[in-house]
Amino acid sequence: MAADERYDIIVVGGGHNGTTIAAYLAKCGLSVCILEERPELGGAQENTEPVAGARLSPHAIANYGGAAPGWEQLELWKYGFRMDLHARHPEYRPMATGFMTGEGMYQIDDESAMGFGKIAGYLATPSFTQELLRATFWCPPHPPEVELTTENIPYMQVYKKHAPDMWTEELLRWTMFDFMDEHIKGGEQMKTVMAYIAAVSGAFGHHEGQAIPALCSVLACTPPFIPRPVGPRGNIHGYYHALLRCALAHGVVARTCCPVEEIIINNGTAVGVRLKDTAPRGEKRIWANKAVISACDIRHTFNKLIGPSHLDRGFLQRINDLSAKGGSLYVTHWLTKNQLKFRPAYAAAMSGEGVFTGGPYVGGAATRKEYFAHMAEALGWKGRPRLPAKQGCFLWVGNQNYDETHPQCTRPGQYICGPFDTIVSTPEYDPEGPENLNKIRAEMDAYNLELAGVVCENLDHDNIVKTFVNTPWDSELRNCGLFGGSWYGVRHSKDEWWTTRPTPELARGRTQIDGLYLCHQSSMHPGGLCLMACGYNLMHTMIEDGLAKPGAWWYESPWYIPQDGKISAKRP
Ligand SMILES: Cc1cc2nc3c(=O)[nH]c(=O)nc-3n(C[C@H](O)[C@H](O)[C@H](O)COP(=O)(O)OP(=O)(O)OC[C@H]3O[C@@H](n4cnc5c(N)ncnc54)[C@H](O)[C@@H]3O)c2cc1C
Repeated sequence: MAADERYDIIVVGGGHNGTTIAAYLAKCGLSVCILEERPELGGAQENTEPVAGARLSPHAIANYGGAAPGWEQLELWKYGFRMDLHARHPEYRPMATGFMTGEGMYQIDDESAMGFGKIAGYLATPSFTQELLRATFWCPPHPPEVELTTENIPYMQVYKKHAPDMWTEELLRWTMFDFMDEHIKGGEQMKTVMAYIAAVSGAFGHHEGQAIPALCSVLACTPPFIPRPVGPRGNIHGYYHALLRCALAHGVVARTCCPVEEIIINNGTAVGVRLKDTAPRGEKRIWANKAVISACDIRHTFNKLIGPSHLDRGFLQRINDLSAKGGSLYVTHWLTKNQLKFRPAYAAAMSGEGVFTGGPYVGGAATRKEYFAHMAEALGWKGRPRLPAKQGCFLWVGNQNYDETHPQCTRPGQYICGPFDTIVSTPEYDPEGPENLNKIRAEMDAYNLELAGVVCENLDHDNIVKTFVNTPWDSELRNCGLFGGSWYGVRHSKDEWWTTRPTPELARGRTQIDGLYLCHQSSMHPGGLCLMACGYNLMHTMIEDGLAKPGAWWYESPWYIPQDGKISAKRP
């Protein structure tokens, strides 16, 4: 390798956010290099095969990207992205099949469904749901000097324009429960299930001021925005492959086994990176002509890759104090000898061909009393579960949701149905220490079996060949992009949304170090999920700073406000 290897842009971390911004910038004609420490790219959008033929998604599974401008702008269909638009089985109609509760399948009544359709914008002519999703996630935060008002917050503009009868200043104070209560009479179970879907997806349905982000966290992952929650051919890692192919086709150089040890800063400007000695390359310094983008964990970036000598102490303290108390996920996959069978009360959760459609389960009568008991357990008491299994909650991704061409299990005569996800506390907020859930895994696994056993009748030790578990601590250790073991910690914090942020100066991906930008789920609005959102949002900043000049394919967010003194990212 030449000692003076140079690129216009260096991206540290090859997860989906780093790869998205790399693809966007390379499409603008810039030379871009991604440096990834692990042997495989994709970050937490990985598939693993711990035993031959058992393909697991230990982290990301579902496609939350239906409304992303990136589908058009990066033209992912050219690079192999395929979405299965047809449900595999005619019975696949989750709104019709109903949702699992402690009292059997709950069927949403027409009035509640119509009420939900109204607040979600489905029923307007034309529907404003895509606009709402883009306004909430695929839009850079306003510049720090712009005071946020009821008039300029993008999703407020969407309601004002399309649904003035629903617009009220209260939208900025309400919880998602309040918003649903205002417009939907009755439908308690539906409201609770929707709040639970929000909780396993993004913003909490019970947080004040989160009504719209929580609603959009549901809309982003449910039909019609995506045909099926998993959907992409090759599953979510298949989506990543298409994204990477796109990046490579535009000339990105992507290197694995290249851990970055230091972002080199010269006179207050990021000018390149130094790889760890373990990187299998001769020259350990790689230079950036225009910018270094850190697409890995925000704490790792500032504590390890930059270090206190280049940073203000107060700022570093705020980074280390970032709240990760929004909970995390305990992820289980069971490899079984027999296909799972569901108890008679949950028979509707199976398609005619005996395939589990999956979905959320909210215990007891599935009212918000049960929801709050579950949240109190996961986020308040923390640590080991105490609620009787029948009153617990879980999200179980059924086989039905997977792409037929890439099944989870190819072992003859064996089956996988999962993941089975439960919300638990983040490691650092566990009163018994960050490793607690790993230490009490046997207890957790037994509890989860009991929980799953409420709906499933043959998930027992005779049937189970192997249990694969990914605790939040596993995720955090195995993948440093996931501080808190998920995207939850920060996504569930108000600070990540349109209102207040602990680090407003980072909101648009810029840092106090010239030439250093951020593009990771933990550092950028809107955080995890929302495919291509961090990269799309950062593109506005890269254009403003004169670093990227996209072609006619580019269009900015309609709610974008240019920053004073910068080049506008609006398409001329
Ligand atoms: C249990 C769980 C379930 C999830 N479910 C979903 C889902 O259903 N759908 C969905 O869309 N998302 C889901 N997510 C979230 C999703 O996985 C993350 O939001 C997403 O992976 C974040 O992407 P990223 O590029 O920001 O970061 P990451 O995926 O964390 O990528 C960062 C990359 O940087 C690399 N890196 C770190 N430090 C260095 C260094 N010093 N040098 C070089 N490389 C480095 C890491 O190895 C990693 O590859 C889930 C996450 C978890 C934990």
